[in-house]
Order: sequence, then C-alpha cells, then structure tokens
Amino acid sequence: MDGKVAIVTGGARGIGEAIVRLFVKHGAKVVIADIDDAAGEALAAALGPHVSFVRCDVSVEEDVERAVERAVARHGRLDVLCNNAGVLGRQTRAAKSILSFDAGEFDRVLRVNALGVALGMKHAARAMMTRRTGSIVSIASVAGVLGGLGPHAYTASKHAIVGLTKNAACELGAHGIRVNCVSPFGVATPMLINAWRQGHDASAADDADADIDLDIAVPRDEEVEKMEEVVRGLATLKGPTLRPRDIAEAALFLASDDSRYISGHNLVVDGGVTTSRNLIG
Ligand code: NAD
Repeated sequence: MDGKVAIVTGGARGIGEAIVRLFVKHGAKVVIADIDDAAGEALAAALGPHVSFVRCDVSVEEDVERAVERAVARHGRLDVLCNNAGVLGRQTRAAKSILSFDAGEFDRVLRVNALGVALGMKHAARAMMTRRTGSIVSIASVAGVLGGLGPHAYTASKHAIVGLTKNAACELGAHGIRVNCVSPFGVATPMLINAWRQGHDASAADDADADIDLDIAVPRDEEVEKMEEVVRGLATLKGPTLRPRDIAEAALFLASDDSRYISGHNLVVDGGVTTSRNLIG
C-alpha cells in the first residue's frame, strides 16, 4: 500500500476507522469520506499529513464525485476505494417484518448501503481507468450471504453489494480494476453496540512499537462483553473475538497488490459462522 491513494467511506469510526488506521500504517495516503465532520476531522488530524477528511454522504452523487475529485486533486490519482459506509436501519419489530416494514425507511437504507456503493464504484472507476489499475473493496456483511440476520432492507442492501461486486468486476476487469467485498459477522462497533443496547440481537495491538494504535476505541462494559460472548458462541472457530482490525486486515489484503489476481470475490470474515448450522434454531 506504500504511496497508494485510498478513499475510505464511513472512515470516521467503527470498522472504517480501523481500515483507515491500517491503510495509513501500511503507507497509504487516505481520504476519509464521511457525514460525521467532527469525528472525521479529528481522526484525520490525529493520523497526520497523509490523511484528510471530506464531508460526503455516499447516497448523494455530487458528494461522491467531489470526494473522488478531492483525492485526485490532492494526491494526483486514486488507487483504492473502500466502500465501507453503511447503516443498519431501524431495529423495531415492525421494521424487521416483511408484513409491516416502512417503504421510506427501506429506501433510506438501500440508498446508503446499495446506491452508495454503486456510486462509489462509478466515480472511483472513472478515476482509476486512466491508469488502468485500481482496487475497489466494499464492506458487505454475512447478512449479504444468509437470510434472517437483519432487517429486510439491510439484508437486501448487503446482498446487493455482493451482486454489484460481481457485476462490476466483470465490467471493470477489462480496465485493470479489481472489485471485491468483505463480509463481516458481528463486530463491536458503535453500529452493533447501539443495536445491541436497543435490546435486539443482531487483543490488544500486537505492534507495541507502532505509532498508530490499530485497535479502535469503543465504549466497553458488561453488555458489550455479553454481546461478544454470544458472537463467539456462534462462530465455529473457538477462542478469538472478532475485532474491527480483523475486517481491516481483509480489506487491506484485497486493496493491496497481494491480491492482484483476485476479483469478484466476497471474503467472508466470520469465524466459520456461515459454514455451520450454529445460527439455526
Ligand atoms: P458504524 O455505524 O460504527 O460506522 C459507520 C460509519 O459510516 C460512521 O462513521 C458513519 O458516520 C458513516 N456513515 C453512515 N452513513 C453514511 C453516509 N450516508 N455517508 C457517509 N458516511 C456514512 O458502523 P460499522 O459497524 O463500523 O459498519 C461499517 C460497515 O460494516 C457497514 O457497511 C456495516 O453494514 C458493515 N458491517 C458491520 C458489521 C458489524 O458487526 N459492526 C457486520 C457486518 C457488516
């Protein structure tokens, strides 16, 4: 990633923040594109001169276009787009049922999670095509692989990302651009913690000498411990707790030249959950 230029949408916190930190640690120049100005500006300032922030709502085409233009204007090119921004949507019982979901809410979630990813692909690919190289990595979900894991809009939007990834990979391969996605299971981020706190199911850094702390700060308490225990119980892989950093490592692999022959792939990071029957019953 050394010297590569990357945009990370939703990079102000959560998994996106972990991705930003890891990309920067590996030498990338990163533009954080998020709607949270305060958190985005603060993170960019904390990580140094190679990191900047641009306000960008991924569901608004002008914003996405501007974020790509800003990255190219500042750094001369774009090598990587990480489409990470996403929303879970309302977690009420009514919102979760196909019999009673709200069409407006469904549209809102799809606009951010699915249209946002498609717009990112569109404008990043246009910028990457001139150099005939680039990597687009989107954060989907195990809810894009299995049913029954989230509200309908979220599940539909994450399946859409997996489909968009395959379609865009078919088209953009001719231009030297790889397109992949990563599908995490439950990770303790503000998104999941908030959902958990609403009452709905849904290691320390190894690098002691690194200047950048790769483990993002999340508010921890007994409830978060309980949530992580449930997640660990569902994984077939026993032992570790899934961290934002684990998702960032997968995104890094797909963004970097180490995965130069991989395109159209959905890399599931779930401790074996989707390959087991643990979720049934
Ligand atoms: P989070 O809510 O903690 O962080 C999301 C970030 O995206 C925030 O900084 C937020 O400001 C930003 N954002 C939201 N809407 C935006 C928009 N319209 N435009 C630009 N930025 C926007 O969430 P997270 O858990 O870190 O999730 C990141 C991605 O990972 C999402 O796509 C999510 O669906 C996916 N994911 C998360 C989990 C999990 O367990 N946390 C599991 C599977 C997939």
